Amino acid sequence: MKYSIELLKQAGEIVSGRRKSAISIFEENKKIAYDKIPELKEIDSELSLSGSMISREVLSHKGDFTTSLNKIKERNNALIERKKDLLSQNGFSKDFLDINYACKKCNDSGFVDAMPCECLIEVINSLEREKEICSGEPNPFDTFDLKYYPEMLGNIPCHDIMQSIFENCKQYSEEFSHSSPNLLLFGGTGIGKTHISLAIAKTVQRKGFNVVYMSAPDLFTSLEKQRFNQEKSEQSIENILSCDLLVIDDLGAEFTTSFTISALYNIVNTRILEEKPTIITANLTPSEISQRYSDRIASRLLGCYEHLRFCGNDIRILKKKGL
Ligand SMILES: [Zn+2]
Repeated sequence: MKYSIELLKQAGEIVSGRRKSAISIFEENKKIAYDKIPELKEIDSELSLSGSMISREVLSHKGDFTTSLNKIKERNNALIERKKDLLSQNGFSKDFLDINYACKKCNDSGFVDAMPCECLIEVINSLEREKEICSGEPNPFDTFDLKYYPEMLGNIPCHDIMQSIFENCKQYSEEFSHSSPNLLLFGGTGIGKTHISLAIAKTVQRKGFNVVYMSAPDLFTSLEKQRFNQEKSEQSIENILSCDLLVIDDLGAEFTTSFTISALYNIVNTRILEEKPTIITANLTPSEISQRYSDRIASRLLGCYEHLRFCGNDIRILKKKGL
């Protein structure tokens, strides 16, 4: 999903608000504890000297200073233990003076190694859901119109097939869980694959799951950029590999290279191994997928995905004709 700058800003403020409140609770606790146990303040100022003690050791010794560094470490550990003992002797919990960040991974900074932390993504997703619910946006399945699918297309009962695909996908999104199957939606252009996959993504996201929806060209361009560190991408490879549901729309529309083939294999295979559901839509048939991508990708897509073959006439053309 693409996020607006406004949404990112709002999410950043929420996460930094959490950090501020963790720190202000810590400051208040510190005051309370110092008042009751003045020795704690002395211990903290002893501890704050370690930095300068270490620099002194480094500057004054020419050779190995591991021993003296270890001594400083031991001294610090003893002081920290003393603090905890003092706290519990005075009726506080031992971690009373720890800063209690809401997210231990990023200490409420929102970033880990310059990439968005899971907690930031979670906030963005919930803001997005709120926004959608407030805007009264209709259930995306409700805007899917089966009238565009003829009773029969040649000798194929097109309307019935599409009705059953529609019901399956709606049920899939409503009952989505980490054990939901992978889906491969395939068939010609303009017959509703993107509409259905987007409807699943939105419904699953509204339920609170972390969903990444990307077109194949956008996905591979973004991976290529990250590979050469050209720019920070909205979706890190870590999130693409580990999100609850990944939707790759329009596989085959990208410019296929050996890089895109190996990146696709990595994504498909990792998500199968980690049992994370993935949905792929493609204008290619399974046998065209086998020809275009490597055998190992084809064997995963053929063996580990449920196949839904769409049928119909190009809806965009029907709409243009006013049908
Ligand atoms: Zn975090």
